[in-house]
Amino acid sequence: MTDVTLQDVRKEFDGVVAVKNIDLQIPDGAFVTVVGPSGCGKSTTLRLIAGLEQATEGTIQMGDQEVTGVEPKDRDVAMVFQNYALYPHMTVRRNITFGMKSAGDFSDEEIDRQVEEATAVLDIDDLLDRKPGELSGGERQRVALGRALVRDPEVFLMDEPLSNLDAKLRIKMRAELAKLHSEFETTTIYVTHDQTEAMTLGDRVVVMNDGRIQQVDSPQRLYDYPETRFVAEFIGDPAMNMLSVDISRDGTEYEAVGPSFRIPLPEADGLETAAGAKALLGVRPESLSVADSADRSSFPAEVTVTEPLGDSLLLECRTGDQEFKLHAEPRTAVEPGDRVPLTVETERLHLFDPQ
Ligand code: ADP
Repeated sequence: MTDVTLQDVRKEFDGVVAVKNIDLQIPDGAFVTVVGPSGCGKSTTLRLIAGLEQATEGTIQMGDQEVTGVEPKDRDVAMVFQNYALYPHMTVRRNITFGMKSAGDFSDEEIDRQVEEATAVLDIDDLLDRKPGELSGGERQRVALGRALVRDPEVFLMDEPLSNLDAKLRIKMRAELAKLHSEFETTTIYVTHDQTEAMTLGDRVVVMNDGRIQQVDSPQRLYDYPETRFVAEFIGDPAMNMLSVDISRDGTEYEAVGPSFRIPLPEADGLETAAGAKALLGVRPESLSVADSADRSSFPAEVTVTEPLGDSLLLECRTGDQEFKLHAEPRTAVEPGDRVPLTVETERLHLFDPQ
């Protein structure tokens, strides 16, 4: 186990800046997920840590060793890829032991013991004589994990390791990865484009966009306190609603004023300077609800779409030209075209710059 520190790391591929001078500290034993849309620089960041790419600028450190120019084989990391990268002509046993054997540092007994332990944990001990072509996708991914496990590295690097599996198996393997980590506590850096995977697996989540780190936080804090509009809209499904508003001030009270609503704002830093300006009001779908009747604290909206989800009724609504979503009680009697009064949980609002 070890910690990993990236300092001012930049990666350019002729003309394309994939990673724009990021700083990142991954604590010893942490499970850190890196999430963001396709092309935002996640894989490149992981490959830089693995040594498969060399940084254009900046340094990478593992523990107290600087590894920036060190060859991948001399970094104590094991990488698991999306496509498993198994050797098709080798048995499962050979695939798992190949790296250990070629390193030449282990006795046959030690190799056998490691294989036994890893394959028992992953429940693939009865597949050792098969070849990858005779395995299901889930089994192949377990073999790839087994190969990483037997190396007992300081750091696991995982690049979308579950994205080739079907939805059900992905959820099962996700739980197994979490269990493996709680057992071995090896520092793990896990890249995914799937926010659910990032949120459920990571004890810290790194959100990237366009080569930059937007925020590093616990899953719950990312959801509750997104620092940028990008994070607010990326984390959460359905996404946080964004309503264009004017900020108005009445004495010490502030309100967000939209086409058919005035929503009182809780005290927050920066409100004074925002007064009189335009802003985006971020409202999570669960912070809105259908009121029993219209009153001073509610505002009217037109329901445009209803989607029964079983445990809730997802409503798409409109006020003026602004559209937004909310979760209503499952059997709320509303139909598209109805006008309903809505109330907002004002303690959970977010304000963003409209730029
Ligand atoms: P992600 O993993 O988030 O999808 P990547 O790290 O793969 O993103 O890519 C980030 C950016 O760098 C993209 O614009 C991609 O096209 C570019 N890129 C990645 N690898 C190379 C490469 N070997 N040569 C040129 N451009 C690359």
